[in-house]
Amino acid sequence: MALLGCIADDFTGATDLAAMLVKGGMRAVQLIGVPGAGDAVPEADAIIVALKSRTAPVRDAVGESLAALAWLQKAGCRQFFFKYCSTFDSTPEGNIGPVAEALVDALGAGFALACPAFPTNGRTVYQGHLFVGGTLLNESGMEKHPLTPMTDANLVRVLSHQTDGTVGLVPFATVNDGAPAIRKAMTALKEQGRRFAIVDAVTDAHLRAIGEAAEGHALLTGGSGVALGLPDNFRRAGLLATGDAAALPSVAGHAAVLAGSCSRATLFQIGNARAHVPTLELDALATPDAAALAAQALAWVEGKLGAAPVVIAASAPPEKVAALQAKLGREAAGALVENALAAIAEGLVARGVRRLVVAGGETSGAVVTRLGVRALRIGHEIDPGVPWTYAEGSGAPLLLALKSGNFGGPDFFTKSFAMLGA
Ligand code: ADP
Repeated sequence: MALLGCIADDFTGATDLAAMLVKGGMRAVQLIGVPGAGDAVPEADAIIVALKSRTAPVRDAVGESLAALAWLQKAGCRQFFFKYCSTFDSTPEGNIGPVAEALVDALGAGFALACPAFPTNGRTVYQGHLFVGGTLLNESGMEKHPLTPMTDANLVRVLSHQTDGTVGLVPFATVNDGAPAIRKAMTALKEQGRRFAIVDAVTDAHLRAIGEAAEGHALLTGGSGVALGLPDNFRRAGLLATGDAAALPSVAGHAAVLAGSCSRATLFQIGNARAHVPTLELDALATPDAAALAAQALAWVEGKLGAAPVVIAASAPPEKVAALQAKLGREAAGALVENALAAIAEGLVARGVRRLVVAGGETSGAVVTRLGVRALRIGHEIDPGVPWTYAEGSGAPLLLALKSGNFGGPDFFTKSFAMLGA
């Protein structure tokens, strides 16, 4: 029976939260999209439903979030977590506020805290204002984000605009006094009719105290940071098994890396891999045809597959990406490469690949969809924010590491497989 039901507004954010819970000793499974009524409930302490609702129309985001909640309630979860970005990524209309309101109403909770702080990643909240490193959110570059420009660092004001306006604050001085003080402040705000409170947090100790204070709350909302304190609540209640929460079934088979991210970190990782393992760099500009690119790659892997990875990359430096985009249009260029890599993934699995690293957020989405993966059991972290996962629902048993482009150290492509052993 699952304990904690989470709804995340994007895919990599869901993994980030899942990895945090696993580190705290909870077994976690991430589901891709709202599960169907007949889908089996995974054996886990936390279930994280990954939506793509951050920039969806408000009505769709609310509808999908409520559907996810209903499924998680039926799965037996007793506490719920709405996960959004630690930079509070949202538009003036939402979707954080409207989704949070709908969840509070559906649960009859009356109140939920809101805390995006993640000190480890430089996100802190002080007097209701969100800082990214040493700068206010609205001076951090986030004010220029293409989809969710954040032009106000005062989260009490931001969330008030997105909701019916009854947003309070649990300030630093209270948070610093620890869990009982925070609990008292939240109860008082609820009694005053506040439906939400931004909760300040500057350190991990603050996040732990907030988590402890929210024991028994039906709903929490925030970044993955504030989930830091939740596993201990369940552990104190005797609800968590001992043992390695990150243990995954062992899977033998060939190893491969697929890269579709053109971010600097990924380009560097490809360069680094070239010296150590067979590496194919596809040229989508010379062959702007997904099926032809896939055929090239699958011909190339012939005789090369084994325990050491092969690396297949479509990634290219900015001028080459710009050239393909000029030729096909931005969306078509992206789709071409994503389709090619998804087809290659399918071909690799058919050829016995069972350990697969994918670089790129959109690329990962395309690969997971093509392979029919519906659930990911979260294992040990390779580098911060990127765990190995065991894919469920894809037919063949499969270990997957899905990496957002900029994540991971320079040796990520070899280190990840070394971690798995033979
Ligand atoms: P990241 O996590 O770094 O943002 P994504 O996979 O989300 O990576 O996005 C990278 C996008 O760039 C994908 O849509 C991918 O198909 C596209 N892409 C990859 N290689 C090329 C290329 N050579 N030319 C044009 N677009 C490319």
